[in-house]
Amino acid sequence: MTDARSLSIVRGRVLTPAPYERKLVEWPDALVEVDADGRITAVSEAPADCPVPPTWPGAVIVPGLVDTHLHFPQTRILGSASGPLLPWLETSVFPEEARFDDPDHAAAVAREMCRALIEQGTTLAGIYSTAHPQATEILLTALEDGGLRAVTGLTLMDRNAPPANRLEAVEAMAASDALIERWHGRDGGRIRISMIPRFALSCTPELLREAGRRSREHDLLLQTHISENRDEIAQTLAAFPGHRDYLSVYEDHDCAGPRTLLAHCIHFSDDEWARMQAQDIAVAHCPDSNFFLGSGCMPLRVALDRGLRVGLGTDVGAGRTFSVRRVAAAAYDASLLCQAMVSPEELLWLATRGGAQAMRQDDRLGCIAPGFDADLVAIDVPPLHPSPSRAALIDALVFRHDAGPVRATVVRGRVLRGA
Ligand SMILES: [Zn+2]
Repeated sequence: MTDARSLSIVRGRVLTPAPYERKLVEWPDALVEVDADGRITAVSEAPADCPVPPTWPGAVIVPGLVDTHLHFPQTRILGSASGPLLPWLETSVFPEEARFDDPDHAAAVAREMCRALIEQGTTLAGIYSTAHPQATEILLTALEDGGLRAVTGLTLMDRNAPPANRLEAVEAMAASDALIERWHGRDGGRIRISMIPRFALSCTPELLREAGRRSREHDLLLQTHISENRDEIAQTLAAFPGHRDYLSVYEDHDCAGPRTLLAHCIHFSDDEWARMQAQDIAVAHCPDSNFFLGSGCMPLRVALDRGLRVGLGTDVGAGRTFSVRRVAAAAYDASLLCQAMVSPEELLWLATRGGAQAMRQDDRLGCIAPGFDADLVAIDVPPLHPSPSRAALIDALVFRHDAGPVRATVVRGRVLRGA
């Protein structure tokens, strides 16, 4: 991308996660200095006679939102009410994903998805493509041109799906190798390739092992689904006989470790949670999707108390929104249903810093502080009740989306949207 404006200094109210504690730090009127590479070099309080005008008057500036889990080819079936999970895949998902052998369709949807992410303030996303190498190339080109950060790759399926949705293991690995060679690390690591077995049911043991091996050899994120739905769990254990639980299927096929990012994790046993912790596996929490498909509630507090890396995911199109803030609101509701509330402050931390940790990019992302990349979102602040306190501001960011839309989205100092 060449036509985006770059920022060298930003002035405004800043709310930033602390790096390691799940709390937020506020600068009422900050100056954020950004170098030519888009790196933050200094954050300071603006002096009384500061000549720099506020960059986005009336807005608060937070780090770019991180969507740790969504499906590019489901952009146009968002809201397709045909759940629970397995019938929804058959009825809504597989027919639409099969259409991505058409490059024109793939290109149109890729543009729509990038626009939707930027409009909602998402700057980094973990994106499942389809099993089509050409559609995945088209997606990667759109992400590169659109200025977003992304971790994406083929969605690997070589069984239990219609022929139009599958790619045999040998072909899929050859295509993945080509994607790694061509795209991984593009533009200073803004674009990264990931291994993405859709879920155990859609993969032969050979495909799972090959995906795990590449993740390890190339230090790639490995993204997949787990323990979303009870029928899915029963079918998975039938397809992989001799395994004690769902997580052990991934463990036994070289797909579990610190590079692994697992979506859903709803129906885990205590032993599975303990092994998640022992292996430093990250969680993509997708509560809006879980509500829409009636999958259940992931016990977020359990994951956090174990010290797991957790990010939020829209899971479009089972999730009904591209807004990570709306997902944070759904996560609040889900935490109450689990009788273990997670606060709006913690949720905003998870939507930014937590997501960066889950995606192993927390060395550069998720804080507004020197040494971090200038991935920023400006969000309009609505009139606050009962007073313009920090707590009221955080509540508004998580719950009052309609009154406080995203004003600007910035990746590495480049303005993707907004003046
Ligand atoms: Zn998903």
